[in-house]
Amino acid sequence: MIGLFHKLSPVIKISARILVVDRDTILENAVIIVHEGRVREIMPAESATKVRADKKINLTEDILHPGFINAHSHLELSFLKDRLTPGMRFTDWIAAVVKKKAKVSPARSDSAIRNAITSMIRSGTTCVGDIASSGKVTPRIISSGLRAVIFHEAIGFDPKKAGLQLKKMVDGVERAQGSEIVTHGVSPHAVYSVSGALMRGVADYAAIRGRPLAIHLAETPEEALFSKKGTGPFRDLLAKLKVHVPGGHPHKSPVKAVQEAGALTDATLIHVNNPERGDLTRIKKADSCVVVCPNSNRWFGRNMKDHPMRELMEKSIPVALGTDSLASNLDVDMAAEMRTALEEFSFLAPGDVFQMATIGGAKALKLPKGCGTLHAGAPLDAVAVHLTGAEGRRGFLWDIIKPGRHVSMVFVSGRKLYAKKGGR
Ligand SMILES: [Zn+2]
Repeated sequence: MIGLFHKLSPVIKISARILVVDRDTILENAVIIVHEGRVREIMPAESATKVRADKKINLTEDILHPGFINAHSHLELSFLKDRLTPGMRFTDWIAAVVKKKAKVSPARSDSAIRNAITSMIRSGTTCVGDIASSGKVTPRIISSGLRAVIFHEAIGFDPKKAGLQLKKMVDGVERAQGSEIVTHGVSPHAVYSVSGALMRGVADYAAIRGRPLAIHLAETPEEALFSKKGTGPFRDLLAKLKVHVPGGHPHKSPVKAVQEAGALTDATLIHVNNPERGDLTRIKKADSCVVVCPNSNRWFGRNMKDHPMRELMEKSIPVALGTDSLASNLDVDMAAEMRTALEEFSFLAPGDVFQMATIGGAKALKLPKGCGTLHAGAPLDAVAVHLTGAEGRRGFLWDIIKPGRHVSMVFVSGRKLYAKKGGR
């Protein structure tokens, strides 16, 4: 088959010393044949000598693995890198972000977005699930070559304004430029910032149009307090921002509120640090995924001892990892998230966090079949990292994650987005 299309689109032959197809399929001295941006065939190096190719890439000192999928970021907040103090109270942090976001110059914001995208790519991220409150990020992502799902944010606590707020979000989504690898979803921000009416409207729109939906959920105990009782720091925050509506809180737990609004089904649930009794069963039944942001949680000084990671795994709820924004993280490096997850959750093995950063992310972002792996048929979203003499499955996976690893090449959909200078 490849011969027939050969002239229309180049056939690329990549030789890898170690090929990580997925967590459990790791091959030595393998060749991957790429055509039209996809993995067409994988074969042992000795069988590949006769395969004709227009281009050959030799990664004979490298591990080639599926690129990381950063399932939660806010690239728009990249200008806040190193501008806020770790350990801030969450509601104070939100107030500070809102204030600084209103003042940042377009040029500064744009250069920070571009730098963050470059950092993502150079650290081996090939896909991002980004929350966007404006149209600033989409063109930058498209020109970078990254695969992405851009979740357009809806925000507004006053139910009387829900119609207008929904229209604004829908207009943004429908007008947004897309591509084969950049698609658009929706995100009602959270139960403390979105009225029930707006959340329902966004959920209905997502269901009708088949768009992915992401929502921040059960991030802090204070969120639950406000959701149920309408009191605490979130009430004070809404009052300070002059958007508080007395009695407008959901009067139930965050997960139940989101479920009632129809936004829990088949959704990307961001954080879920503090689920209540029965919440994980609800999430499992709703067929939703959870995105854990280890370094953002650490930045806020949250106690991870009570984190439901073990229960999420026991219930087979798909878990993805995300960096969150540079307003609450020092970096946008997924390997750093994987290492922190290993440190915080001692029962996890490198294979578990690798799974979360690849297939877990693909599920969370509803990516096309094969994404998160390098199986035949999958898009070639792949990263080459130097092999440093590690042996065995666990050693190879650690080479991919460890501090100071050396990313030498990054591909998305078969296109080379990055090659280390002096590399091939
Ligand atoms: Zn977030």
